[in-house]
Amino acid sequence: MILILLGPPGAGKGTQAKRIVEERGIPQLSTGDMLRASIASGSELGNRCKAIMDRGDLVSDAIIEEIITERVKADDCGKGFILDGAVRTVGQAEMIDRVLSGLGRQVDVVIELTVDEDELVNRLKARVAETKAKGEEVRADDNEETFRKRQAVYRDQTAPLIPYYEGQGKLRRVDGMGEIEDVARAISEVLDGVA
Ligand code: ADP
Repeated sequence: MILILLGPPGAGKGTQAKRIVEERGIPQLSTGDMLRASIASGSELGNRCKAIMDRGDLVSDAIIEEIITERVKADDCGKGFILDGAVRTVGQAEMIDRVLSGLGRQVDVVIELTVDEDELVNRLKARVAETKAKGEEVRADDNEETFRKRQAVYRDQTAPLIPYYEGQGKLRRVDGMGEIEDVARAISEVLDGVA
């Protein structure tokens, strides 16, 4: 099953993706994680992305095409995969459709996690406090100002994907404001209906 998780930064896509990985045995393809790994490795691609990510903007569609095209061909993607934050512009959605169709595959379902934006800022503050308490490093883009910028980028550039996937009949909405367990259960029900 090929699943896309949509929702603004902080909506819980990563948390829910990890649950789905465990339950369904398909990998999570998070472009945010892949890009941070590139930065950490000091690669040329990472260097090109760092400043863009730190200010909360999107890296170019061409970079996403480069990293996703290779990744979806890997053996572990054979049974399917979860695109977590990996599709953020209509151009990327068209690219993914094109790449998958070249492999004889297609997106099966798109789950939009619906959330309240103000509540997300509170979640962010809690996440930062928790990370600090654990003595771990806080992400460079996890501060209130950049976070609000990422929300605005989501509204402008990513929200147009909702009508795109609605038009394809693939969009399902799940309330992302509940407890992690409740959101996970609602997602599971959607996925059972698709599989
Ligand atoms: P979040 O969704 O919480 O903002 P991510 O870890 O998914 O966090 O992404 C962090 C940053 O990585 C984004 O703000 C953006 O700069 C970059 N990024 C990740 N995925 C994409 C994508 N598909 N297109 C463009 N930029 C991306």
